Amino acid sequence: MTASEARQRRVVIVGAGFGGLSCARILARQPGYAVTVIDRNPYQVFSPLLYQVATAGLPEDDIAYPVRAAIPGATFCRGDVVRIRPDAKTVRLGDGTVLPWDDLVLAVGSTGTTFGVPGVAENALQMKTIPARGHRRRGAHGCRAVGRRSRAPAGDAPRVPVDL
Ligand SMILES: Cc1cc2nc3c(=O)[nH]c(=O)nc-3n(C[C@H](O)[C@H](O)[C@H](O)COP(=O)(O)OP(=O)(O)OC[C@H]3O[C@@H](n4cnc5c(N)ncnc54)[C@H](O)[C@@H]3O)c2cc1C
Repeated sequence: MTASEARQRRVVIVGAGFGGLSCARILARQPGYAVTVIDRNPYQVFSPLLYQVATAGLPEDDIAYPVRAAIPGATFCRGDVVRIRPDAKTVRLGDGTVLPWDDLVLAVGSTGTTFGVPGVAENALQMKTIPARGHRRRGAHGCRAVGRRSRAPAGDAPRVPVDL
């Protein structure tokens, strides 16, 4: 590490979606920041076009963009953040890797909700990710059992524990 790198603030951004990538692109252009983006996937999903992929209007490659290419000047780290320790200023990945930060940005998106509408959780298929979209397409072609098996219960998305 050079002396100038040692003076840089280490910014860790969790999530390479719209929010995380926008933040990374801005900060990576500023002097004084060493930006690391973490995501469990090496690609960003352009979710507005998930519907077109689900209905076979587009191939899935058309809506998944490599994260690394989108953030020149920043470092990309593939991993699932499973724990955040604000006191130690670290995040831990699923494989045990621990990354230190001076500033942490959480841009992990959201989970779907049924707004308590009866029957939605049991009968609807959510469409937030490319694997989920794959299930939708199979469902649309009549393999309803595949969709049912693969569906996560609404509101049951994994959460990142934060040690406070
Ligand atoms: C089908 C659909 C259509 C949409 N159409 C539109 C539209 O037309 N116009 C519009 O403005 N908006 C649209 N939206 C909404 C838009 O996609 C969201 O507002 C936007 O994606 C939110 O950005 P984000 O960065 O907060 O989260 P996301 O884009 O969801 O990114 C979150 C990222 O965090 C990563 N992540 C989460 N947890 C972890 C973890 N623990 N460790 C590592 N990585 C993690 C995920 O892999 C993901 O890459 C649509 C959404 C959907 C689902």
